[in-house]
Amino acid sequence: MPKIYIVDVTNRDGVQTANLGLAKLEKTMLNIMLAQFGVFQNEFGFPTTCHEVGYLNANLELAKLGVMGKTRMEGWMRALPEDVVKSKDAVPGLEHINLSASTSDQMIDHKFKGKKSKQEIIDDAVTAVKVARDMGIKSVGVNSEDASRTDRKYLLQFAKAVKDSGADRLRYCDTLGYENPFSIYKTIREIAETVGIPIELHCHGDLGMAVACSLAGAQGAIDGGVDTYINTTVNAIGERAGNADLVSVILGARYSKGFADKYELADGIDLTKAWKLANYVSKAFNVPIPVNQAGVGMNCFAHASGIHADGVLKDPYNYELYGYEELGRGEPICRETGRIICSGQYGGVAGFIHIMKNLGIEFKDKEEAQSVLNTVRYANLSINKPISDEELIFVCQYPEIAKKILTVVF
Ligand SMILES: [Zn+2]
Repeated sequence: MPKIYIVDVTNRDGVQTANLGLAKLEKTMLNIMLAQFGVFQNEFGFPTTCHEVGYLNANLELAKLGVMGKTRMEGWMRALPEDVVKSKDAVPGLEHINLSASTSDQMIDHKFKGKKSKQEIIDDAVTAVKVARDMGIKSVGVNSEDASRTDRKYLLQFAKAVKDSGADRLRYCDTLGYENPFSIYKTIREIAETVGIPIELHCHGDLGMAVACSLAGAQGAIDGGVDTYINTTVNAIGERAGNADLVSVILGARYSKGFADKYELADGIDLTKAWKLANYVSKAFNVPIPVNQAGVGMNCFAHASGIHADGVLKDPYNYELYGYEELGRGEPICRETGRIICSGQYGGVAGFIHIMKNLGIEFKDKEEAQSVLNTVRYANLSINKPISDEELIFVCQYPEIAKKILTVVF
């Protein structure tokens, strides 16, 4: 029976959101947390973008050390042979990629202004896949940008061509959030049955239906006989109205009416990491979590009205579909109200040694502490907000890799 896999794209779609962004250290922390959460694949950046290269290579080093668990680290690029070559030159350890082509008449006529014919777009994608295969890339997804507004006959032709050239998956991009759950189910099932290629669902929230469309599309793919991969972002952060929220997709797959009886989420997801992950991303992007956000909002397990409170006290399942413990909630949040010693870009070695000792890390001598502190200072400079305990511990555990993450070469 085909299954549903999660491909998180926060570090690609999320970071390209207007007015938002993450420092490379924050992207790295997010990669580690996504691996702990257990996503199947993490679209962790742009190998053709010069300022990403040091970060990408350093994160692949971390993956080799086992820090990224079983999660596949995948890079995004245009579906052009030259982008594949450039990516592999810059990031030689890259093993998984997604290639993006625009396929709708709207994009071909009004973005490319007739520079490329429909056949040329297929030819470029096919050649890019073949080049990637020849260069030893292990998995290749091909994205159809604006798939939901693409002529169906052409989309099927595109999907078949990339499949025949060796692509593993087609990413169906509902780039403008144009689909509804009924329409996407039908379309995805048709592609699955006609072409037989595994399908990624990439849905946006412009009409407020990104999660519903992702789950309905997944049903269409599985009913059509193929594996399916849902693209998510943490806290739904993504371009314009955002993407399908990671935690909501998991909750929907596990708890929506009848879904789990027929459709199976691949193993490996540890939902108890949701609270920590969502809060880290909120802090890193500086975007608060809405109180009513599914699973991780402050009000998700709060009950005020007499009838509800009475009902929950008798049995939580009277008014809750799932328990807060499943999301890793329930620990009180402690905040120091007495003396606080901080470290960061202007910190000194005595304070730093004191802080790290309290976090369980000791240095062999003052020189070693001073050397790591220098990296911590740069790390703090790059994130430009108070450095968290997790970030401090990471820099202390991997000071040399942290330096590579923080280094940008022009
Ligand atoms: Zn997108």
